[in-house]
Amino acid sequence: MNRLAIFDRDGTIIDIVRDEETGTIASAFHPNQLRLLTGAVAGMRALQDAGFTLAIATNQPGPAKGQISVAAVERTNAALISRLADEGIRIAALEVCMHHPTGGPGGDVALARACDCRKPKPGMLTTLISRLDGDPARSWMIGDAVADLEAGRAARLKTALIFAGNRCELCPLRGGPSTIPDASGATLQDIATAILRAT
Ligand SMILES: [Mg+2]
Ligand SMILES: [Zn+2]
Repeated sequence: MNRLAIFDRDGTIIDIVRDEETGTIASAFHPNQLRLLTGAVAGMRALQDAGFTLAIATNQPGPAKGQISVAAVERTNAALISRLADEGIRIAALEVCMHHPTGGPGGDVALARACDCRKPKPGMLTTLISRLDGDPARSWMIGDAVADLEAGRAARLKTALIFAGNRCELCPLRGGPSTIPDASGATLQDIATAILRAT
């Protein structure tokens, strides 16, 4: 069985997209918006070198909400995998949930429904564990949101939180015991160091 490191995408590997004009934030929806976060490549490489199999699990409700197309999500994810490959990082599998419980105007109605894959549900993680023959007890879910921690815990993985001190709305302590991470750090590099120290 393999040790998996399953990463969230936005706010974990790549930055969210900020529109300074309107003050809004969004997920990257085009390859030219990919901005790898500080420490992301180094952290992923350290885990890969230590024998972890790397995977990504990302909620992308944009198509259900009518914000972007399914093709845009897939193109952006493919570009991220290719960009990481250029850095010598192999992503063994990527799972994406494009559902949203209520959807939005102009959204794909087939995607506007409850599902078992949208984090904090563990569906994408359990799929990755079975696809990649993962050992949950020795595998990690790494993300920047409480939903990532809850999904990881529900899939019986260890959990790590990328935590920037100015994002108090994400404080894991607000969600109760299921959201207290097994490791935390300000960057993926810090997280990798903590994970490798813990194992
Ligand atoms: Mg995130
Ligand atoms: Zn889903």
